[in-house]
Amino acid sequence: MTITDMTIQELASALRKGDLSSYEITSTFLNNIERLEPSVGAYITVTKDDALSMAEEADMSFREGDDPGLLAGIPMALKDNIATSGIRTTNASRMLENFVPAYDAYVTTCLRKNGAVFLGKANMDEFSMGDSTEASAFHVTHNPYDASRVPGGSSGGSAAAVAAGEAVYALGTDTGGSICQPAAFCGLVGMRPTYGLVSRRGITAYASSFDQAGPITRTVRDNAAVLDAIAVRDPKDGMASRFAPVPDGGYVGATENAFGNPVIGYVEEFSKGLNPSVRGALEHALQFYESTGARVVSLSFPHLEEALAAYYLLTSAEGYSAINRYDGVHYGYRAADAETVDDIYMLSRSDALGLEVKCRVLLGSYLLSKEHYDAYYEKAARIRTLVIQAFNTLFNACDAILAPVTTGPAPLLGTRNSESLNGQYSSDRFTVLAPLAGLPALAFPYGLTQEGLPIGLQLMGPRFSEGRLYMLATAYEDAHERLPRPRLLHELRNGNNHECP
Ligand code: GLN
Repeated sequence: MTITDMTIQELASALRKGDLSSYEITSTFLNNIERLEPSVGAYITVTKDDALSMAEEADMSFREGDDPGLLAGIPMALKDNIATSGIRTTNASRMLENFVPAYDAYVTTCLRKNGAVFLGKANMDEFSMGDSTEASAFHVTHNPYDASRVPGGSSGGSAAAVAAGEAVYALGTDTGGSICQPAAFCGLVGMRPTYGLVSRRGITAYASSFDQAGPITRTVRDNAAVLDAIAVRDPKDGMASRFAPVPDGGYVGATENAFGNPVIGYVEEFSKGLNPSVRGALEHALQFYESTGARVVSLSFPHLEEALAAYYLLTSAEGYSAINRYDGVHYGYRAADAETVDDIYMLSRSDALGLEVKCRVLLGSYLLSKEHYDAYYEKAARIRTLVIQAFNTLFNACDAILAPVTTGPAPLLGTRNSESLNGQYSSDRFTVLAPLAGLPALAFPYGLTQEGLPIGLQLMGPRFSEGRLYMLATAYEDAHERLPRPRLLHELRNGNNHECP
């Protein structure tokens, strides 16, 4: 088995046996990055020197008999909205192109404590607003399974890096699907944790009442191992939950337990408008769970369309306040030719923010204006409450809901039309639901379509049911073959380095 095919668990055991060193593993991934980045474009910044010295430190600690944990010495990527002290953190925006934080995000600190090796900062949609990574101010990222397609977004760089063998795992962030959707498009496992389980401190806000960071990995067990490292209560995050019940033995422990006879909910409304391959995946996965002793119950979710609209209204309103801090005065880009204060504000923003961000800021400011607040913001907030109540009712009837992540596999680059709720935004209709209610959602790979494109499914559960979701997804994963790696990697092994058009 090659190093890039090994899971976290396999690498961790090879490191402990002395079969591999972190330096060797890290160099292999850096080498892959060098060869594949022209085709994939997963990273904004690659931190080669830092990575190698972190790897040396990890090797040293193994030699000295220290063992900081399962992630020690294993190279990974961080989405570029997660602050890294001394490493440029751009949010894929011209506004923060040269911003080097003086502090680490809390999740960065957690990973450092666990001995993780940072390969670099992954591409994303600007300020996490988007679902294809095409809204990055720097470059697009290609889906490693088919370079003419998007990797998903906004954590598309994180997912592409893992799928392409340019990182063992990555952290993404999710406001309304940005972990589960790119994970599904790239054949990976993505966990969007319960709101409040993972600290948001040091992660650039998009919509603060939705945002959560979470792991993107190749296997469910790897995913659980990363969540174990970052689901640590942060006393300085005001929204950190005080009573997050982590299962005994952590999340990795949860993947080793059997669920017994779970009740899995199937929501009728979710099957409308699905591409046949996704519908087939959903039906097959439900049959699989039934065959292992689960009871499948058919349920109804009444507010699907309203939920999508409410999500975009609420996140645009919150996004407007979050983006307001970039005014050309405090930090970030400042227009050189601005003469008055008004000019500084206006020109800096108009030069340095991309179209998608500007649209949302304009929408957000409109929604929050005195004249329109009741008609839009307040109504959307009420719908959010209805969504929470609907989930409460559903989880009285089942342990977890099995749902599609998207209606089809990854679309072609350049085909996203962001202008309406019927266009690009409508593809988020299954992934905004858990975030609206602050619930966890776990995307896992189902298989490939006939054209070789990954299809994912998601499990959603009540608050803090991450352990349960991992248990259920492990059952599926253990009974099925792992997805083949993208063609790109085989070509690399055969010495063919193909460039995208
Ligand atoms: N596509 C959604 C949006 O643009 C989700 C983004 C996210 O989760 N960061 O808002």
